[in-house]
Amino acid sequence: MGVQAGLALGLIGAFLLGASAGAGEDPAMTRARQRMVERQLKARDITDTAVLKAMGKVPRHLFVPPALAGEAYNDYPLPIGEGQTISQPYIVALMTQQLALTGAEKVLEVGTGSGYQAAVLAEILPRVFTIEILPGLAASAATRLKALGYQTVRVRAGDGYLGWPEEAPFDAIIVTAGATHIPAPLVAQLREGGRMIIPVGSGGFQDLLLGRKERGSLVTRPVSPVRFVPLVEPKR
Ligand code: SAH
Repeated sequence: MGVQAGLALGLIGAFLLGASAGAGEDPAMTRARQRMVERQLKARDITDTAVLKAMGKVPRHLFVPPALAGEAYNDYPLPIGEGQTISQPYIVALMTQQLALTGAEKVLEVGTGSGYQAAVLAEILPRVFTIEILPGLAASAATRLKALGYQTVRVRAGDGYLGWPEEAPFDAIIVTAGATHIPAPLVAQLREGGRMIIPVGSGGFQDLLLGRKERGSLVTRPVSPVRFVPLVEPKR
């Protein structure tokens, strides 16, 4: 093939990749993603078909720094810049599955990071609100989500400890940073009967807690030990 033809094909490929995630995708990435779903999710305890379908679709390799794209579907978290990380695929699946989503919910995520978890949620339901405290990450996640066709996801730069009062109540809340305690504003913004999934602990170690709001307070049970980057909390 001549240089010209090669260049033209490259451009077409780049166009397809930009136009829609999936079409024109490197087949190695498609295969890696399918393997991830089979070996890391189905082979463990991920059974929610909406979660499996979403994780089989979202191009995770486009949510990590280009140099790490080849590792995007591996069974561990990856750095995404500014000292933050994108969670291991299994943890994303586990947390999403615990919310028992039907597709009708309005969901708040605290800790947008790369936007990957928000994209997984957006594959399942149309009303996703996500808050990121680092403005640079919030801006790049918003741009990335738009470019990949996740137009409905609303991204805000701000302190997610305080929730998103103007959009409350939420049917479900997912916190993707490690908290020392359950933020009261988030409980207040959760609908009665709604679910919250949040890592709570100290010293870099947390228990993933699943909560349900009953008569105004959150009743929780531990799901699994986890390690998340810290949630920025107000000074006491
Ligand atoms: N869900 C992300 C990964 C989250 S990493 C993804 O799919 O890529 C945790 C993120 O929480 C980091 O980006 C961090 O900056 C952010 N964060 C920490 N404290 C926060 C707070 N109080 N409000 C909003 N975001 C916060």
